[in-house]
Amino acid sequence: MTAAEYNARETAAERLRREHLLALGVIGGVDGALESAVRAFQAAHGLTADGKAGPKTRAAIDAELSPRRVWPLRGYRGRAPIVTSGYGPRARRGKPGAFHHGLDLGLAWLESDPEERVYSYRYRSGPHRGERWVWTPPECRVVIASAPGVVRLIRRAANGHQIWIDHRAHGIDLCTGYLHLATPEVAEGQEVAECQDLAAIWSRIEDPHLHYEELDEIRPYRPRRPDLSRARVIYAE
Ligand SMILES: [Zn+2]
Repeated sequence: MTAAEYNARETAAERLRREHLLALGVIGGVDGALESAVRAFQAAHGLTADGKAGPKTRAAIDAELSPRRVWPLRGYRGRAPIVTSGYGPRARRGKPGAFHHGLDLGLAWLESDPEERVYSYRYRSGPHRGERWVWTPPECRVVIASAPGVVRLIRRAANGHQIWIDHRAHGIDLCTGYLHLATPEVAEGQEVAECQDLAAIWSRIEDPHLHYEELDEIRPYRPRRPDLSRARVIYAE
């Protein structure tokens, strides 16, 4: 079963849970938490709290999801991709590092502590004693466009290919950048759809991960703090 088939199979209520409440962190991955989560969402939005995802509730969800975008990597086992390094100044190996203009999204999480969000070199050095990592399947290592747009720029750098997309012609006030990629599957000037495959993550980058950026403008370079808090998660099988 492909991811598209899997996601299309879901009922509206399941979709609500997976795409919205789960992404917002309102609930965990527990089935049966759905109805109370829907009630809580309805109560917070002035809707009749009947626990059913009717048209008004779904309209409120759509409004909250705006501007539309999806996580640029697929989720796995009910989890959004793990953010291993956030936007802002960061330290590497205990020393002050450069300002990090994006989000790093990793390909594995620690089974015993899936919420641990740290910039880590442990993937490379292998599991430490007693640690078990959950690795995402190959489908989660292909970067997808977070919104429809036009590929404005493709660059090849020492740390992999970069793809830069402008979404503004589609009514979305956003540009996005994707770094540490293998050979791109798209070309400059090409229109891309939301969720379209862009490239695999480059296997030779340290701790293979996607570096994702959101920008006001690609040239001149004007990055801004990425906001995936309301983005939908597309799940691999
Ligand atoms: Zn990064």
